[in-house]
Amino acid sequence: VALLHPIEFPDPEKLEILERLDHYRKWRALDEKRYCLACGKVIEGHHIQVVGGTRGSGPLRLICATRGCHSIPMDWVLLTDEMLARMSILEEEPRTELAKSRSVGRENFAARLRKFATQFRRVA
Ligand SMILES: [Zn+2]
Repeated sequence: VALLHPIEFPDPEKLEILERLDHYRKWRALDEKRYCLACGKVIEGHHIQVVGGTRGSGPLRLICATRGCHSIPMDWVLLTDEMLARMSILEEEPRTELAKSRSVGRENFAARLRKFATQFRRVA
């Protein structure tokens, strides 16, 4: 996969490109925000990258501002109240992850305890 270098455009032109290439939602300003369903981040029009196709000469494409995110404009939903509510749920996730890793730690501890108890029993 060839490295794509984002192309810089003056703001009015970039807005025009966003409007032209995003067939799903209207862009009225570059400081409008979208929620990327692929990477779960809020992206701003300013930060969306415009890249050229093959060797920079193909048709222009929009890519998510997040490094390594391969979403397309279809994945960028408007920030509605519903989205904000969903995001607050998503923000709970790191905590859930932490709880998960903690419970894994507990399992390991329990396994070690069992092992210890087995040895103890053997000795006894
Ligand atoms: Zn993304």
